[in-house]
Amino acid sequence: MPKVVSLNVNCPHCNKSLMDDKHLINNRSSIKVLIEVATGQKGSIWLSSIYGDYNYTCDVKIPEGEIAIFHCPHCQNNLKRKKIECDICHAPIVSFNCSIGGHVSICSRNGCKNHYIVFENVDTAIRKFYDEYGYH
Ligand SMILES: [Zn+2]
Ligand SMILES: [Zn+2]
Repeated sequence: MPKVVSLNVNCPHCNKSLMDDKHLINNRSSIKVLIEVATGQKGSIWLSSIYGDYNYTCDVKIPEGEIAIFHCPHCQNNLKRKKIECDICHAPIVSFNCSIGGHVSICSRNGCKNHYIVFENVDTAIRKFYDEYGYH
């Protein structure tokens, strides 16, 4: 079995966990946040917690290329980061706090290839992950 890096993330505002262990993606707990699309429809999105995995499920339809607004399901705060935009498509970047340090950032535009989970400082985070879980 290949080793996968599975993330544990918290809301940057209220620090509550965003993990949903009832909704699995690739057999891992997913990251659940509230979403609002341009049409005004609101729903939930479950993002894969596996580093580098693009999979997600969503109970509202996000039109391809549209920017969605992400909210914390606990405190309802907007998860958009101020003054940071996607370096590919210039949409707002959405961020979560990562339990092993740093942030996990995704592009808020559906279909943008930045729409997945990345560490801002991948070397440090991966090293911490390996230290914490004892993989070598
Ligand atoms: Zn919150
Ligand atoms: Zn983007």
